[in-house]
Amino acid sequence: MSFDASKATSYLKDYSKKDGLSVKDLVDSTNFGGLTYNDILILPGLISFPSSDVKLESKLTKKITLNAPFVSSPMDTVTEEVMAIHMALLGGIGIIHHNCTAEEQAEMVKKVKKYENGFINDPVVITEDITVGEVKKMKKQLGFTTFPVTDNGKVGGKLLGIITSRDVQFHEHDNDTVGKVMTKELITGKKGITLTEGNEILRKSKKGKLPIVDSEGNLVSLISLTDLQKNQDYPIASKSFDSKQLLCGAAIGTMEADKQRLEKLVEAGLDVVVIDSSNGSSVFQINMLKWIKETYPELQVIAGNVVTREQAAILIEAGADGLRIGMGSGSICTTQEVMACGRPQGTAVYGVTEFANKFGVPCIADGGIGNIGHISKALALGASTVMMGGLLAGTAETPGDYFYRDGKRLKSYRGMGSVAAMKQTSINANASTSRYFSESDKVFVAQGVSGSVVDKGSITKFVPYLYNGLQHSLQDIGIKSVKELREKVDNGEVRFEFRTASAQLEGGINGLYSYEKQLHN
Ligand code: GDP
Ligand code: GDP
Ligand code: 5GP
Repeated sequence: MSFDASKATSYLKDYSKKDGLSVKDLVDSTNFGGLTYNDILILPGLISFPSSDVKLESKLTKKITLNAPFVSSPMDTVTEEVMAIHMALLGGIGIIHHNCTAEEQAEMVKKVKKYENGFINDPVVITEDITVGEVKKMKKQLGFTTFPVTDNGKVGGKLLGIITSRDVQFHEHDNDTVGKVMTKELITGKKGITLTEGNEILRKSKKGKLPIVDSEGNLVSLISLTDLQKNQDYPIASKSFDSKQLLCGAAIGTMEADKQRLEKLVEAGLDVVVIDSSNGSSVFQINMLKWIKETYPELQVIAGNVVTREQAAILIEAGADGLRIGMGSGSICTTQEVMACGRPQGTAVYGVTEFANKFGVPCIADGGIGNIGHISKALALGASTVMMGGLLAGTAETPGDYFYRDGKRLKSYRGMGSVAAMKQTSINANASTSRYFSESDKVFVAQGVSGSVVDKGSITKFVPYLYNGLQHSLQDIGIKSVKELREKVDNGEVRFEFRTASAQLEGGINGLYSYEKQLHN
């Protein structure tokens, strides 16, 4: 008997054999060992939409949603202010490392928060007796040259004029006072206008800045046309809804001094703090987490790292708004070798998220993300975002300078548990030792290595490559959003397959005499 070809898809509904495995069957049936990203594949689905339709919006924490599920790691060779600014502009977020003094870290947070604004509520203001020379110096220090001039040199003072780069740039007499060269005929906005109305006045008047004043002519705030341009250039940037400032994260440890550190970070405008520990299930972390939630109820807190449901449960109960998953999966990491502790990342991500998602606690898959496929797999296994160290290392936005070795242009990348990073630790900069519970050790036991990576160019190209690649990957699975991925993995519609060792060989490049691997144009 032959089957009716025109009803092939209907037959399939009752067919006894189903391709692939549900995520539960995939993980449950590996009693013999844990899975890594490379051990699994996702089966393709039906494509009925362009990849550009795929939405990558996903939650970082209970209250923060990102347009792109990308987080840069709090490592001293990955995330300082330049990385954090660009990660946020490109739809993700950067977590600024804490292997520096609290003051230095807070200064970096401030720079991220000041980079883009709606209303600039605390603009730098001057008095009219300041000299042109002094204004030129301020530009060098601050990076901008427009300063409102008020009678008392503060916001709230009577607005007398404005001084911009055009007023001072070609002015030869540095000893002249601002009062002599400033523009006094000003177009201003009335206190209470909306940002849209303010932007409209700027557009029509073709001015670069709009001072906002109250009914008595006192300065309230400032709007800059540059910010409107930034908004246009980076349409999926991660920003606070009201202030339009970029979102910024930072890491702290679990020691007493970290409480004062956090106070400075919060003052600088921090949106989310990551409690940075290689093993999050410690009483130090639980106490810190509870203290933060009591002291700063509005601040989002990501706890971790965890790899089991038991570890996750403790931190969820203590109030975590997000969890960070991974132990020993990082590309620079030797924890599994030295500590005999850890878990293969695929199994860890599935186990923890399967539990945490029931409580509405989003999870970051941290470590071991080496390509776009790993990102899709992490999301399919239940993570809401991925954290990357090695994949972003070597980009122009990471701290440090390029250097040349063997004809290659390189940058340093080191584990925070490497001896080199731990040696940098002092009483004011405790990231490395406190992360690995080593602050009182006379002999450091390294849990990471120090190395170098090849120049990857700017993340302004690399992150969009990850973004587009992830859209294409989800399109191949027949999925239009991260939310839909979660639903269809949970109900068993998205199917997985094991990859045996030979399947992994088959899936890699083979049989070539030589080749060049170019990731993007
Ligand atoms: P200008 O030299 O002051 O005209 O600077 P731009 O308009 O090119 O850029 C200023 C950028 O710095 C904008 O994105 C502002 O939001 C930001 N910014 C942050 N704080 C201040 C401030 O106090 N004054 C000014 N002028 N800009 C600020
Ligand atoms: P959006 O246009 O999708 O960003 O919509 P929003 O509701 O966020 O923005 C409201 C208004 O503020 C619009 O006129 C935006 O163009 C403008 N806007 C958005 N972000 C910024 C910003 O960072 N600075 C300034 N000055 N305006 C912004
Ligand atoms: P990657 O993206 O390079 O694979 O991994 C980055 C992650 O590795 C970081 O976010 C952090 O969780 C972890 N990590 C960073 N430094 C070290 C280290 O020295 N040792 C260990 N065990 N993990 C590290």
